[in-house]
Amino acid sequence: MPLPKNSALDLSEQEFKEIGYQLVDSIAYLINNMSEMPLTTSISKEELKGKLTDYSLSDDGVSAKELFNKTTELLINYSLFNGHPKFMGFITSAPSPIGILGNLLGSAINPNVSAQILSPIATEIEKQTIEWISEFIGLNKSYGGLLVSGGNMANFTGFLAARTAKIPNSFKEKGLSGINTKCIIYCSKATHAWVEKATILFGHGLDSIRWIPTSDNNKIDNNELEETIKKDISAGNLPFMVVGTAGDVSTGNVDDLDITAKVCKKYNLWFHIDGAYGAPAAALPELKELFSGMTEADSIALDPHKWLYAPLEAGCVLVKNPEHLINTFSSRPEYYKFDGFSPELAHNFYEYGMQNSRGFRALKVWLMLQHSGKNGIIEAIRKDIHLSKLFFDLAAAHPNLEALTQNLSITTLRYVPTHDKNKNKWSNLNYLNRLNEQLLVRLQKSGELFLSNAIVKKKFSLRACIVNFKTSDRDIQECIMIIAEKGKQLHFEMSSEYI
Ligand SMILES: *Cc1c(COP(=O)(O)O)cnc(C)c1O
Repeated sequence: MPLPKNSALDLSEQEFKEIGYQLVDSIAYLINNMSEMPLTTSISKEELKGKLTDYSLSDDGVSAKELFNKTTELLINYSLFNGHPKFMGFITSAPSPIGILGNLLGSAINPNVSAQILSPIATEIEKQTIEWISEFIGLNKSYGGLLVSGGNMANFTGFLAARTAKIPNSFKEKGLSGINTKCIIYCSKATHAWVEKATILFGHGLDSIRWIPTSDNNKIDNNELEETIKKDISAGNLPFMVVGTAGDVSTGNVDDLDITAKVCKKYNLWFHIDGAYGAPAAALPELKELFSGMTEADSIALDPHKWLYAPLEAGCVLVKNPEHLINTFSSRPEYYKFDGFSPELAHNFYEYGMQNSRGFRALKVWLMLQHSGKNGIIEAIRKDIHLSKLFFDLAAAHPNLEALTQNLSITTLRYVPTHDKNKNKWSNLNYLNRLNEQLLVRLQKSGELFLSNAIVKKKFSLRACIVNFKTSDRDIQECIMIIAEKGKQLHFEMSSEYI
């Protein structure tokens, strides 16, 4: 006999099944028909708000079944699908279906992966996930770490570990002002904005960042890096950390990590690599060379919700000597009486990172890694890179498109109205930047495809980043057609203003 529900919060077993089966049907439909649906909605935020007038915080609640049906439809109609085969905007992957189911299972079990006693098997699964990710990208077994919400948090975690490892411990009591020297962090101009947030939030200030110039191909200039470090040392500053980039967010470049690693060794600096996007590509045998030096990193940020196709959220930080995480994050108040704080007795993840209560992020990643296997993931990443190259080649061959850059799975390009009789007039940088800026907005609103932008040598460009196992050659061909057609139309409208 099923038990009747005894709280307004509960669902009866029957209700749960009905809603659940219907939900699984809707999700399966969504996954399999997404390519035919608009990628996003074009309605305004006022109209979106209006869609919610149908929902209310009532005194006595509503039927769960109706609520779920309505809500599923609402979300399908007014969302942006980063799993759509033509979504190539920001770096969020198509969610692996097994990851979607994993999230459901994980929240049903609902372990609190802070202390092992609260999450006996989940803790072991997270540890194994970390080992597998490390193995997948070719790191040695010493690396440990944890899953976090995303790249920002993974990079912050690396930053804080670096600080503990390399600056005098007295700052724990006295704060940074107790260290009579400025702690300096080095990174290239192509580094993601997390680094600015980190220096502000953690009390160092923006002027503790040395922005090292990049070469033509957007890689950090390692000579300039070394010279800058030397200058800081002679000025009495305390260099402590260098950030290398393995797949920059704009154009996908990978720094010469092996050279940066040598500079770090020479000056005893922490080498952190931001591979939030690109690091999984290190698993491809043909890219081993490109990523050489990654195995020297003291810490690495890598987002499973980017190039390991996990549903949001899943970031990951890997640290060569995980003791640095414990030294940074562990605190043991009296009200925590977990059986044994020693790692032999229990692995308590709250001691390794910023969070206390933690969800079971690892499950979806753990399931996906096993389901696809190493070769399956390598093939998916390789295909994304192929599609990105195809995008570049088709743009290069098109009379009205200029292919600008292609690295990993990121391509940048722009629309250029070369056919125009007034060639010189329309090839003006300002005009082309305005044209492409507006073209981007028009493309995004169209719901047909979704790109973002990058500035490549002052040129406003359209940027496509492909981390999507649903995208095909045909999608890329169609994207080229759509961009060319909308570009032509927009140029026609904009140029007529000038005539
Ligand atoms: C996406 C990205 C980040 C930020 O990651 P979130 O998951 O959005 O916090 C940081 N660095 C790089 C290189 C990225 O691509």
